[in-house]
Amino acid sequence: MSAPHSTSLNATRRAAELDALAGGEVVDLLVIGGGVTGAGIALDAAARGLSVALVEARDLAFGTSRWSSKLVHGGLRYLAKGEVRLAHESAVERGILMTRTAPHLSRALPQLFPLHEQISRGGAAFVMTGLRAGDALRRAARTPSSLLPGPRRVSGPEALALAPGLRARGLRGGLLSFDGQLTDDARLVVALARTAAGYGARILTRLRVTTATGDGVEAHDLVADRTVSLRARGVVNAAGVWAGSLVDSVRLRPSLGSHVVVDGAALGIGGTALTVPVPGERSRFVIVLPQRNGLVYIGLTDEPFDGDVPDEPVAPAADVAFLLGVAWSVLSRSVTAADVLGSYAGLRPLLEGTGRSADLSRKHAVLRAPNGVLTVVGGKLTTYRKMAQDAVDAAGLTDRPSLTRNLPLTGAATRAELSTVDAPPRLVASYGTEAPRVAALATVDEDLAETVAGEITAAEVVWAVRHECALDADDVLHRRTRIGLVPAHADAARARVAALVARTLTGLAPAT
Ligand SMILES: Cc1cc2nc3c(=O)[nH]c(=O)nc-3n(C[C@H](O)[C@H](O)[C@H](O)COP(=O)(O)OP(=O)(O)OC[C@H]3O[C@@H](n4cnc5c(N)ncnc54)[C@H](O)[C@@H]3O)c2cc1C
Repeated sequence: MSAPHSTSLNATRRAAELDALAGGEVVDLLVIGGGVTGAGIALDAAARGLSVALVEARDLAFGTSRWSSKLVHGGLRYLAKGEVRLAHESAVERGILMTRTAPHLSRALPQLFPLHEQISRGGAAFVMTGLRAGDALRRAARTPSSLLPGPRRVSGPEALALAPGLRARGLRGGLLSFDGQLTDDARLVVALARTAAGYGARILTRLRVTTATGDGVEAHDLVADRTVSLRARGVVNAAGVWAGSLVDSVRLRPSLGSHVVVDGAALGIGGTALTVPVPGERSRFVIVLPQRNGLVYIGLTDEPFDGDVPDEPVAPAADVAFLLGVAWSVLSRSVTAADVLGSYAGLRPLLEGTGRSADLSRKHAVLRAPNGVLTVVGGKLTTYRKMAQDAVDAAGLTDRPSLTRNLPLTGAATRAELSTVDAPPRLVASYGTEAPRVAALATVDEDLAETVAGEITAAEVVWAVRHECALDADDVLHRRTRIGLVPAHADAARARVAALVARTLTGLAPAT
């Protein structure tokens, strides 16, 4: 099943498609929100043959979907809370994403639970039992152990070989397990939106919905500074933590999660993640997550958030200090504020319930408001596909079943095929089978081979504008690439990226 339309998204296509819809064309389904949930819904619906428009107030992955831990979870933590169905769903969706829909954007991440003196033998046995249960979920989901090997105990020297920065004193070994990790969460969203565009979905960023009803929306076009009315047979609100501002009856209880960004080499963190128990607590952990570019994200907090939902949440200083302190408890050198290259925070769109926010269920729900608008909330990045399938089923616009379980995203291929793609592995991990086309830009124009930050080249900036719907420098710095996670890197790259974006926008073919 190949996509009949182009998967390239850019300013020219946006302008032409928005004009057609503002001119009165009625689509089957209008999706509000360009996070992982909305982009997943647009793809599910478009692949079933529905005409679809997705409207996003700012940019693809502007909201929570770029602030995650970038893990494709196997559901272990839900199992620990007795939520067996949720745990199984998570493991199944992890397997689908890693083996079929997005192998290019995901990899197996080794995770080490270090066994220092404060972990008793009983405590270690308890954790190992949990890891084995997680592996049973993997088997039940039919994800091969060649992709995600089962857990095993490693010796002290082996633990140190995996994570040289670990404190050697008191280290008697570790528990090694594997879970899924994304190259980047925002890139998953962009791949979803582009795949949906390949099935004809209109992806319209910079379009803020002000009013939503069951048969359309009023929206403000931030590019042309005008109000547009878009009509549809069905409307789905996938505005994440902002969903309640569009549909009064939706009650959310946002929870704030923070991460700190540090340099892996400075702390002796290689390619293995660390799961660090929070001292004095039984089932609470901090995770130290190495990225392919040498940065390490240390997360994760989970605190109730009250008040107005900000556009871009900020990691509180207390969260940063807490995360550094817990990470330090297992490392040989202290981690201080001087090590912090950046930090980020996101708000989980959790359904209102009772109890601590860390205990609120990550189940998703599809709710129909009296005016006919469907809202999809809760859930998590890993289960976006199932959320999307449930939302399109609930919209009741087609009898065709969902096809996304076996639908590779733009750039996807089997791992064997990806290993033969003729491009640097870093590019393959971001662009999959399209990596040679990105690399080729630099052979046509050698200026584009220059880097703008770290290993990111000018060619990637041009690609983002031509094919990935980047409309300005911020889209490139903060969402198509993640240069912006280290503010000093973004500051240094901004002028060059802005000039490249302006030049590329000028060179796009005019709308016809
Ligand atoms: C700190 C943290 C770590 C996490 N880690 C993981 C993880 O490792 N793995 C995992 O599976 N899950 C994780 N999650 C959960 C996951 O990130 C979220 O469940 C998911 O990203 C929510 O996506 P969404 O599309 O529903 O919301 P969002 O990504 O917030 O998308 C909503 C979109 O709607 C747009 N919007 C809002 N109002 C309007 C309007 N009026 N008009 C048009 N558009 C509008 C916003 O701009 C936004 O882009 C984490 C969450 C947090 C907070």
